[in-house]
Amino acid sequence: MPITVVGSIAYDTVKTPFGARERMLGGAAVHFALAASFFDDVRVVGPVGDDFGEEQLAVLRRRGVDVSDVERIEGGKTFFWQGEYGWDLNSRETLDTQLGVFEGFTPKLSEQSRSSEVLFLANIQPDLQRDVREQLPHARFVALDSMNLWIDIARDSLVRAIENVDCVILNDAELRQLTGKPNLVTAAREILSWTAAEQASTAQRRGPSVIVAKQGEYGAALVTRDGFFALPAYPLESVIDPTGAGDTFAGGLVGYIAAHPDETLSDGLLRRAMAHATVLASFNVEEFGTERVERLTGNEIVARIQELHAMTQFSGAPLALRG
Ligand code: AMP
Repeated sequence: MPITVVGSIAYDTVKTPFGARERMLGGAAVHFALAASFFDDVRVVGPVGDDFGEEQLAVLRRRGVDVSDVERIEGGKTFFWQGEYGWDLNSRETLDTQLGVFEGFTPKLSEQSRSSEVLFLANIQPDLQRDVREQLPHARFVALDSMNLWIDIARDSLVRAIENVDCVILNDAELRQLTGKPNLVTAAREILSWTAAEQASTAQRRGPSVIVAKQGEYGAALVTRDGFFALPAYPLESVIDPTGAGDTFAGGLVGYIAAHPDETLSDGLLRRAMAHATVLASFNVEEFGTERVERLTGNEIVARIQELHAMTQFSGAPLALRG
């Protein structure tokens, strides 16, 4: 099923203990689209300024991503983000965020983008996420990502956005911050109980049924109404730049689900989607920005899935314990 994604399309300036890059291609929608393009058709919605190069769009086009809803705003500046990582690559400092063309942006989706059955609301102002959600009322699967900034300054709007999606993908710290619950499982359960007020008493009750907690180098956990699953991150000896890992993870997860339109959203499907998400994210962090994923191949993904599968298996035969 084709996927529509709305979110930041950005220039990123990043410094890690292993090097630095100035104004490289980034943005949540870009990282997501590149990863999801290994599984299905992807359409990107979002604005760029007239400082955005054709060669950046070509990176998406080369992976078959439809960029016809990427709107170039004349005289505008592309979203800019600057961040720095210390030795602990799990924590980073945001040094600058310039919304640029996202300020006052009204998404105008083409017929094509509105016809997608899968929608990913990548990290951006929750008002924009809601606007796009309303333009795809019949989407079969809708997932959302966000970040601490929006929980800080636009929590109410974010909660309303979450009430109208099927799947929420957040860092564990963001899940705690959003719910005020210190325990990850309790925090996830709280979000699973959120439903849009106007639907609460109707038969078409919607609201999130899948919560994914990203835990950086420790992996990710999945909480549904009746299940729990967790995977470690793929163990890498060299991590260069974690920027975009979360969005690449989401691209693997949502892309895998979109590519299996005939399956119900079962535990088995979600577990396989988590594995593909984990593997995609592992490639993203091996180099700066989109560098590694740009030249990734399907065979490399398959090989790493098999390794991750072997690493996470154990025999379930119970031991008769003393006492
Ligand atoms: P991740 O490392 O997965 O959290 O994603 C990092 C990407 O998100 C970078 O490429 C940034 O351009 C983008 N980003 C950072 N801050 C924001 C923000 N406030 N809104 C939207 N996108 C952002």
